[in-house]
Amino acid sequence: MAMRNGILLVVSGPSGSGKTTLCRRLAADQAVHYSISCTTRQPRPGEVADLDYHFLSREAFAARVAAGDFLEHALVHGNHYGTLRGEVLAHLAAGTDVVMDIDVQGAAQVRACADPAIQLARVDLFVMPPSEAELQARLTGRGTDSAETIALRMANAIEEMRHWPSYTYRLLSGTHEADYARIRALLTAEQLRVSRLRC
Ligand code: 5GP
Repeated sequence: MAMRNGILLVVSGPSGSGKTTLCRRLAADQAVHYSISCTTRQPRPGEVADLDYHFLSREAFAARVAAGDFLEHALVHGNHYGTLRGEVLAHLAAGTDVVMDIDVQGAAQVRACADPAIQLARVDLFVMPPSEAELQARLTGRGTDSAETIALRMANAIEEMRHWPSYTYRLLSGTHEADYARIRALLTAEQLRVSRLRC
């Protein structure tokens, strides 16, 4: 049986686009590894350290930046976020597909990354909310963030949405089930790519 190199599915989209739920479901159903990011953000109620994020102090995060440990990192909504290079490369080398839920700055860094293993693996997808009104409703309906945070996320979302043309794929969000069917179809097609097969 042919083995293949893992896929690095990079998913971006504004908060409230539903991308995190899609990525998490893909990981739960499809034997895809969900890349756990590092962040300096405080945990939200219910979030579990090392399952949702590796929660780091600003000092610890800066030390990992200085050590060159991040495949990409960015300041998003006032907090630092980053993906550990070693974790991603180990999964790809083992033939495991990896899904990364990262912002547009991080996706641009992955796109520009010189590592051939990353470029062979990389596929990027932008999840677009159906409208500004629907995005506002989704951000408010979450009930976990303050009005100030929601306003900041809304402003950032509008800026982030300008970047969708840099991505290979764009998904205009509808119902969760319809979105999930499409992201699964994308993964299935990428799993058939000859370029990642090891004969
Ligand atoms: P949240 O704080 O709501 O979990 O995430 C806020 C934003 O940070 C989201 O757009 C999410 O995609 C992004 N994000 C999460 N992890 C990373 C990461 O490792 N790198 C980058 N660049 N963005 C991330």
